[in-house]
Amino acid sequence: MSGSDSLYQEIILDHNANPRHYGALVDASAVHHENPSCGDHIDLHVRVVDGRIDAIAFTSEGCAISRASASMMTEAVYGQPVAAAQAVIGQFREMMMHDGALPEAFEELESLRGVRKFPSRVKCAMLGWAALEKLLSPAG
Ligand code: ZN
Repeated sequence: MSGSDSLYQEIILDHNANPRHYGALVDASAVHHENPSCGDHIDLHVRVVDGRIDAIAFTSEGCAISRASASMMTEAVYGQPVAAAQAVIGQFREMMMHDGALPEAFEELESLRGVRKFPSRVKCAMLGWAALEKLLSPAG
């Protein structure tokens, strides 16, 4: 295991043990998403005010990768305009599906790139992001 691999593993374990923005919101849009292949569940709550993500929270059950990825996602998009959050969703999916580059601002998300080595776990990493994409889409 290289030095960066173990650093990345520490980031994932930390977000799993201490998920950021963990909980529920009132006066927010909510969505429930599942990843049947692993058994992961997430409830994601987002409040958009004046076109920005004013508040975001989630609870999840399942594996460390799904929870850690959702936790990092909340930090990446909190306070961002909806269009910017949608752009991050696209960039994260590009990384997970096609090894695409991420902007330097999202260095922590790099820790999830290694999940690509385990194709069955990519859906775990995408769970929260797919939920957010659904919440932010105009069709709701
Ligand atoms: Zn999982």
